[in-house]
Amino acid sequence: MDTSSQNNDDEWLPELCPPWCTADHAAVYAESGDWVLAQLHTRSGGSDFLDEIRNPIDGRVMRRGGGEYQLRAEQEASPTGRGFLTTPVVNLRVTGPPAVAVELTTGEARSLARQLEHLADAVELS
Ligand SMILES: [Zn+2]
Repeated sequence: MDTSSQNNDDEWLPELCPPWCTADHAAVYAESGDWVLAQLHTRSGGSDFLDEIRNPIDGRVMRRGGGEYQLRAEQEASPTGRGFLTTPVVNLRVTGPPAVAVELTTGEARSLARQLEHLADAVELS
């Protein structure tokens, strides 16, 4: 029996990406060897390190540094190569400490962005 043409049903890459996807699916698979990771439509929204925050009065450490936050949009592709299995989500991951992961719809992400900016402005600009 010739097994050379048999493929595992989980071994495929998307044929069509949503306009926002910047993933190089073949490169992700080549680097990770992970089909599930390579099948995700993704776009990075940026990342930054979290510096240590000290109390300006007594110098106590209020937040240890060394963590990082990462924003990324993700959507699972369909095994047919076209279409999608899930709605797109915006993931916020903080490596910590403490580690936090939040998955938001695009509407929730917009609402949170507005609220974060409003609150930061209230603290610094009032
Ligand atoms: Zn894609």
